[in-house]
Amino acid sequence: MASDFIRDIVTADNASGKHGGRVATRFPPEPNGYLHIGHAKSICLNFGIANDFGGTCNLRFDDTNPVTEDTEYVRSIQQDVQWLGFTWDDRLFYASDYFERLYACATQLIEKGLAYVDSLSADQMREHRGTFAIPGTDSPHRDRSVAENLDLFARMRVGEFADGAHTLRAKIDMASPNLNMRDPALYRIRRAHHHRTGDAWCIYPMYDFAHPLSDAFERITHSICTLEFEAHRPLYDWLISHLDLPGTPQQIEFARLNITYTVLSKRKLLQLVNEKHVNGWDDPRMPTLSGLRRRGVTAQALRRFCEEIGVVKRETVIEAGLLEFCVREDLNKTAPRAMAVLRPLKIVLDNYPADTSEDMNVVNNPEDESAGTRKVPFGRELYIERDDFMEDPPKKFFRLAPGREVRLRNAYLITCHEVIKNADGEITELRCTYDPATRGGDAPDGRKVKATLHWVSAAHAVTSEVRLYDRLFSAEFPGTGDSDFLTQINPHSLERVPNAQLEPSLATHPSGTRVQFERLGYFCVDPDSTPARPVFNRTVTLKDSWTKAKD
Ligand code: ATP
Ligand code: MG
Repeated sequence: MASDFIRDIVTADNASGKHGGRVATRFPPEPNGYLHIGHAKSICLNFGIANDFGGTCNLRFDDTNPVTEDTEYVRSIQQDVQWLGFTWDDRLFYASDYFERLYACATQLIEKGLAYVDSLSADQMREHRGTFAIPGTDSPHRDRSVAENLDLFARMRVGEFADGAHTLRAKIDMASPNLNMRDPALYRIRRAHHHRTGDAWCIYPMYDFAHPLSDAFERITHSICTLEFEAHRPLYDWLISHLDLPGTPQQIEFARLNITYTVLSKRKLLQLVNEKHVNGWDDPRMPTLSGLRRRGVTAQALRRFCEEIGVVKRETVIEAGLLEFCVREDLNKTAPRAMAVLRPLKIVLDNYPADTSEDMNVVNNPEDESAGTRKVPFGRELYIERDDFMEDPPKKFFRLAPGREVRLRNAYLITCHEVIKNADGEITELRCTYDPATRGGDAPDGRKVKATLHWVSAAHAVTSEVRLYDRLFSAEFPGTGDSDFLTQINPHSLERVPNAQLEPSLATHPSGTRVQFERLGYFCVDPDSTPARPVFNRTVTLKDSWTKAKD
């Protein structure tokens, strides 16, 4: 079991019998965007703790703000949590299902003299609120009678007043050093269509009111949230202690996930989508779970990443390279190998019989014997990678060059004899010979070559589009300081290679299949793929190309 300060709290609570040994957590997304890798941290934590302690974790949509929420997001969030490997069984809840109960709680506060209807405008309320340095001042409506407050609140609900005309506020302390305790708003009038309750309500509860009460209704024991809510905890506790509720949840804060070279703000992600800087929420460059999935990242790799980063209370920034490391580690074990040539250069083996071919028996995954072998066709005309040949190679270039012998992986040793060029002087073809005695790739006389190249038989090759992705932002901390994150988008974050040549076994894989293209990286079949024209996304390169120089 993982260990962190939150699990320590749960263990201590179980030992002291605080919640009768019960452990109940929840993951509470607001359906106003797609889930991203930061949410994965929260999901792994909440569902993980429930699993570790034999407890339960609810999926609750915190849908109290009708203006930004949508059923498209509700659907995608459920899909993403399931894909990540977690189940909520029958514990799917919506804060909007509690609107009637929340209203009853607000009424209860009014009856206790702990809430009042204020009629100040938003601007006036801001003026009365004060600052960190200056205490707030009481609203002139603060001392309305319980009867008047009950009457006004009921009339707010039935729609007698315009949006913003009145607000229900908790009656706490306008001089509190904690601004969240200066009579925070509990209900606003807002005529907006809600994706679940339609037009049944024209008043909506504030997040800080709905959240603790929803936790209590569901008898959550440990309400885990990110650090920015630390200063809201006194209000959370105030509400729980002043109302008659079925549970007494405890709020615990942890530091949210930040990663270099990306943004994890839903507002910014929405902007990237709406302004078409990316091709939708599931663009493989996005840090969303749907984007990462389309890119080829496995749920297993993401869970491993969440384990590696751990859970602490101090703000940290995680290197993007750590995610890439987890992805490589996972795919190295699970992804079968195959050969693909991204930028083809044709070679002709002059001494290989024309109009024939043979099948090479090739191991699918050296890390996993159970993956078996496959047959890869070999023939007189082949493609190799254009940058695996140099006509006039510098000292450290060991790959193919005129007069030099190299190995074609799993096939033969070949030697280049002639370079054919077009009228513009571009290399169009290489003439080579192969040594028939080296089938499988080794010479019987034991002579060595310095390079092994991947290749594809030209007669059998399948043409494919390959999409090479790089980090979406070129700045390590996009949008910090005075910078506008949109100006820091990496212009080379997507490169389309239109004419890649694949070995034929790669033509038939369904969307989502992950493979290693030998020497090139891990790739995944994109949903845009068709049998006539496969499309592959590069998930990650084989090596960490950011910290080590390229070979
Ligand atoms: P918003 O600004 O819309 O509230 P949010 O990112 O907080 O954005 P929520 O839908 O409220 O989105 O988040 C659901 C849960 O995921 C919350 O408990 C939140 O604390 C957690 N969460 C969100 N972002 C991160 C992150 N970067 N790291 C860890 N947890 C996160
Ligand atoms: Mg939030």
